[in-house]
Amino acid sequence: MQKIIVGFFLFLSVFAASAQSKEVLNIRAFREKKMHQWLEEYTAFLSIPNIASDTIHIQKNAVFIQQMMKLRGITNVQLLSPKTLGIPPVIYGEVNNPGATKTIIFYAHYDGQPVDSTKWAKGLYPFKPTLLNGSLESQASIIQWPNQADQIDPQWRIYARGASDDKAGVMSILSAYESINSCGYHPSYNLKFFFEGEEEAGSDHLYEILEKYAPQLKSDLWIICDGPVHQSGKKMVSFGVRGDTHIELTVYGSKRPLHSGHYGNWAPNPAMMLSKLLSSMKDDNGKVLIKGFYDDVIPLSIKEKEALKDIPSPDVTLKNELGFLVQENNQFTLAESILNPSLNINGLQSANVGKLSSNIIPTIATASLDLRLVLGNDFRKQHNKVVAHIKKQGYFVIDREPTEADRKMYPKIAKVILSDGYNAQRTSMDLPIAQKVIAAVKSTTNDQIVLMPSVGGSLPLYVFEKYLGAKTITVPIANHDNNQHAENENIRLLNLWNGIETFAAIMLMK
Ligand SMILES: [Zn+2]
Repeated sequence: MQKIIVGFFLFLSVFAASAQSKEVLNIRAFREKKMHQWLEEYTAFLSIPNIASDTIHIQKNAVFIQQMMKLRGITNVQLLSPKTLGIPPVIYGEVNNPGATKTIIFYAHYDGQPVDSTKWAKGLYPFKPTLLNGSLESQASIIQWPNQADQIDPQWRIYARGASDDKAGVMSILSAYESINSCGYHPSYNLKFFFEGEEEAGSDHLYEILEKYAPQLKSDLWIICDGPVHQSGKKMVSFGVRGDTHIELTVYGSKRPLHSGHYGNWAPNPAMMLSKLLSSMKDDNGKVLIKGFYDDVIPLSIKEKEALKDIPSPDVTLKNELGFLVQENNQFTLAESILNPSLNINGLQSANVGKLSSNIIPTIATASLDLRLVLGNDFRKQHNKVVAHIKKQGYFVIDREPTEADRKMYPKIAKVILSDGYNAQRTSMDLPIAQKVIAAVKSTTNDQIVLMPSVGGSLPLYVFEKYLGAKTITVPIANHDNNQHAENENIRLLNLWNGIETFAAIMLMK
């Protein structure tokens, strides 16, 4: 009996190991030899402040990255600058492989969010990378950087601005290339590297760079490394992002605030009017009632639907953690919800509450609305649907303050300010190259990987499509609890190591 059990486990372990390719195992062995040196290099990189507006340090980052690339044998290393002067450059390099007919570009950004160092935990500083033997939440403590002879625990974390978002992208992509090169593997694709320096400042000039260098940036696929892996800790590949736009909506009552005793029940109350207007936009189950709101949505393909079914659902744990019982629309899980266009109230304002409240009828009430978009939606069309709905509720819609004449003519007036926005982007999972990326990431792990047809957040990935006609797939590597954009940003070493294997596998796709 025991023999059978031992045999069974032996079979299981052989079976499990077979999910990871020989190349990945060799790259892992190379990392074991290399990681002390990488840690040293990464700490030096993280020590350079990286706020996009800090021109002097941005230049130092640019020099450092160029050096990293040249050291690894990447060719044609250069800075790509937009037309507008004084904007952080993109650091670019390439590796052309004999016989390759297709090209993949790897994207990450080296700038980071602004910092408030007073908010960082004791002993931690944004640009003085510090090693901890775990996460702050698990009461880990600061430890010495390891010597050459010391073991390195993959659960250790580096705390520093940019450690996860997104210098980890630069580091893991370049070290992935170094690994395949040192292991003697030859990619079947031409590889290009593109490291942006203005992402956290809004990527306002990215399109200028894409436009100016379009021929040089021609490719079959962009691999975007940014953001965290799935909350379950599993590796993730995501194929799209939602679009985003905003509407500022104000409704009007009397010209001056009125005594609620003298005028209550008589004067119109804009807070009440706005509440009614907003509640006319959604039913009790969170479905948007605005005519045609869901009409343009391009349905998911069979593969995308299958992927959705396999996404581990964090719903119950998350609701518990967040302290509410029922989701807004009980038909959908979290993963399904983010594949629909949304109408969300970001905030409401009308006179004062609490200690500052007074017995008045307010003069105006304002709501900030946030519209997230999915594939098929056009943000201007989505604006128009909301405006048509407001008109249908009897409002005279303007984009300025109402005049005396307006007030004499229209009983209900709404000022609607439409902001700029951008549309969603989604690369089809059905494309052969998308299937190759999925297979490559799968080849690095025995665990399930999470395939997201789209993530909920918004990134202006549409610019790659608009200016280059390019396809993008996002392969994030950071731990989900990395505190990106906030104080105590950190990367778990295992995520960095996993990232290197993931990108190496993508570089070696056939
Ligand atoms: Zn980022």
